[in-house]
Amino acid sequence: MSKGILLVLSGPSGSGKGTILDAYKKDHPVYFSVSNTTRSPRPGEIDGVHYHFITREAFEEKIASGGMLEYAEYCGNMYGTPRDKVEEQTEKGVNVMLDIETVGAANVKKACPEAVLCFVVPPSMEVLRHRLTRRGTEDEETVNKRLTQALTEIERIGQYDYVVINDDLDKAVADFADIVATAQLAASGKSLTAEEEAHLSELKEKSAALKAAVKKEFLL
Ligand code: 5GP
Repeated sequence: MSKGILLVLSGPSGSGKGTILDAYKKDHPVYFSVSNTTRSPRPGEIDGVHYHFITREAFEEKIASGGMLEYAEYCGNMYGTPRDKVEEQTEKGVNVMLDIETVGAANVKKACPEAVLCFVVPPSMEVLRHRLTRRGTEDEETVNKRLTQALTEIERIGQYDYVVINDDLDKAVADFADIVATAQLAASGKSLTAEEEAHLSELKEKSAALKAAVKKEFLL
């Protein structure tokens, strides 16, 4: 039995990565890693389901004992992936997904070079701004902070293997599912058919073209 793949999904606030993951999980067997965090639960969040909410001391102890596959600080709080569950599930042949920010994603790639890194972006600057403002509950300063944070994350798009543009949700979920299936096939060690090889190259080329387009749209 081949090992499960480790899939990292990142994307700025407003990219819709959470919605893509939720839709994907409905139809595909996957283990979704529950992170440790030092931030407080938001209304409706359940300990052990959305996060393991732990103290900074407990977080530091886990780092010291090697229990964290990766960790990073984000907006003043610590977030980290528990190592044991990820290893246990991939060993069992189950695909594991991490929803983490860009610094943690780079650390996963260092620790596990075979991990597949995927980045979700909104289709345009206009849509990003619209998604960040649509709740209408934040003042302009907060919206601008979230926008700056989003752009900082988009600047790190180069480290990702694949890019998904979230314009139409169904299409984005289908693109993501295609990437996971193709990456899994490539990681299986089986020899690929000419058609499978061609599809893998096509996905890589498409992502390279999308990275260039995203840089032009958001960063220049
Ligand atoms: P939130 O506080 O909104 O739930 O998450 C803030 C950011 O932290 C999101 O970009 C989320 O993907 C990221 N995050 C969640 N868990 C982890 C983790 O275990 N490690 C890292 N590096 N980032 C995480």
